Amino acid sequence: MKTVLITGASRGIGAACADAFGKAGYHVFVNYNKSEDRAERVCEKIKAEGGVCTAIQADITDRESVRRMVSLCRYHGGGLDVLVNNAGIDFYGTFEQTGPQIWDSMINTDLTGAYNVIYAALPELKNSAAGRIINVSSVWGIHGASCEVAYSAAKAGIIGLTKALAKELGPSGITVNCVAPGYIDTEMNARFDIKTVADITDRTPLSRTGTASDVAGAVLWLASAEASFVTGTVLGVDGGFM
Ligand code: NDP
Repeated sequence: MKTVLITGASRGIGAACADAFGKAGYHVFVNYNKSEDRAERVCEKIKAEGGVCTAIQADITDRESVRRMVSLCRYHGGGLDVLVNNAGIDFYGTFEQTGPQIWDSMINTDLTGAYNVIYAALPELKNSAAGRIINVSSVWGIHGASCEVAYSAAKAGIIGLTKALAKELGPSGITVNCVAPGYIDTEMNARFDIKTVADITDRTPLSRTGTASDVAGAVLWLASAEASFVTGTVLGVDGGFM
């Protein structure tokens, strides 16, 4: 049975990815940091549908905790075939409001967090017949967003990491790709009022906002055999917004 580790899978896009991989027959490792109850609920749903799932707590900014998480994947699943680096936080405010603590926290979570998990998981992925790394960036990592400078910088970093690592790991048979979602209906966007969401919808050619399942579909495809010749790419999941 193939295995997948999805970071930040207690809700939103990560939970939708967990659900999709569970239905596709993977043993799903559902990582969470603080939301244990919600991660357990994600697992219960997968198990109720006949899937295999294990919830694992780890703060992706804490390297020791990440190392333990990967050891548990090895212990419970025999290794790792797919890694989905999804966990992330955002900060909305001007650059002047982005003090050093906020900046460090954004970069540590949204960029270094992905590095930490890849670094720890790479030996497992190298043992897989077809290792896959899928990182979750953002349209703002490509185009930049006003009042989201730290977030945009971290997500741009994810794109650079993806492209460079794809070149380096190609000879090991591991593909490295990322998705760049546009506006997706999750708790991360709860701060936006109805008018702002309507404006985004108006500016989206497909005339709607995205769902977590929209992103999960793209992530699952990048992990599939059909995508075995796709690496170093940034797949937009934004309804044509950009
Ligand atoms: P949510 O805020 O709904 O969920 C974030 C998840 O990340 C939670 O499961 C949370 O776990 C986890 N997380 C946060 N910090 C850590 C940490 N230090 N260690 C481990 N897990 C952590 O976000 P979304 O589902 O909306 O976003 C998921 C990803 O998609 C993020 O990387 C985000 O930047 C990206 N994205 C989202 C878009 C959107 O419009 N929603 C658009 C483009 C990209 P816990 O609750 O347990 O702490």
